[in-house]
Amino acid sequence: MEAHTIDREKFTTAAIIDRTDLTEDLWLIRLQLEETIPFRSGQYVTIGLDVKGSLIERPYSVCSSPLEDHIIDLFLERVPGGELSVPLHACTQGTELVVRKKAKGLFLKNLPLMHGPLLFVATVTGVAPYVSTLRTMVRERQNGTVVEERNVLLLHGASHSEELGYADELAELSRSEDWFTYVPSLSRPWEHPEWAGETGRVDELLRKYADSLGIEPGSGAAYLCGHPGMITHAKEILKRKGLAVNQIHEEQYWPE
Ligand SMILES: Cc1cc2nc3c(=O)[nH]c(=O)nc-3n(C[C@H](O)[C@H](O)[C@H](O)COP(=O)(O)OP(=O)(O)OC[C@H]3O[C@@H](n4cnc5c(N)ncnc54)[C@H](O)[C@@H]3O)c2cc1C
Repeated sequence: MEAHTIDREKFTTAAIIDRTDLTEDLWLIRLQLEETIPFRSGQYVTIGLDVKGSLIERPYSVCSSPLEDHIIDLFLERVPGGELSVPLHACTQGTELVVRKKAKGLFLKNLPLMHGPLLFVATVTGVAPYVSTLRTMVRERQNGTVVEERNVLLLHGASHSEELGYADELAELSRSEDWFTYVPSLSRPWEHPEWAGETGRVDELLRKYADSLGIEPGSGAAYLCGHPGMITHAKEILKRKGLAVNQIHEEQYWPE
């Protein structure tokens, strides 16, 4: 869809100003927005692209912080046969995308209301809303506007180490901030003999880290994002541990 044919009330445009390919199917992009889109960490933007004359749109969680002006960072996966992710993957630096001006989503909205430690759990691209939240938390600490000091642990799972987008940034944060711990885990460690970190699926590690963090019924909260199978299994484990419904929150990227 040509930029001049879009409804300017609802949409703005954004140019891809940076692209990093992590694997054949996973990549990071930075968008320079024509107009700033107000959003909260944890929300998603709706990205559109003209595919054979039709505007195809999908939601993508924002990785950047709202405190980073005019840019949107996204962590994307090409899904085989996907209507948008396949043509999106073919877009190079300079390509202009269509973006809805209204960011949406309630994930992580209640974070300020939760007391106690926070467990963030993600599969691959599901790390996106946490990257945004952590970037915001760091800036709030720098500005002295933190409401409550609490420990945060991010459990990030993938099959292979190169699929762990933002791992360097998160590992650096884990080293520099005593309130934050980054735990990446590989489910196919035998293909990475050099890997010294956790192994296994994040849902299998959940109980261990929820216990070590001190998440208990009535204290702390767990957030789950990404693969629907991980979310279903993780919820069962957390409910068996006795957590209340309002201590477990999810953002599922596609139907089970
Ligand atoms: C709130 C929300 C936030 C999202 N954030 C991100 C994000 O940050 N990064 C990202 O890459 N995607 C994200 N998604 C998924 C994204 O919106 C699209 O569904 C995805 O890009 C596939 O779109 P498509 O048009 O290529 O595939 P479609 O043609 O729409 O779908 C093809 C099939 O693949 C399934 N599918 C969708 N995603 C996957 C996947 N990752 N693995 C396996 N099967 C899948 C669909 O359910 C469908 O059955 C998010 C989805 C939601 C609901």
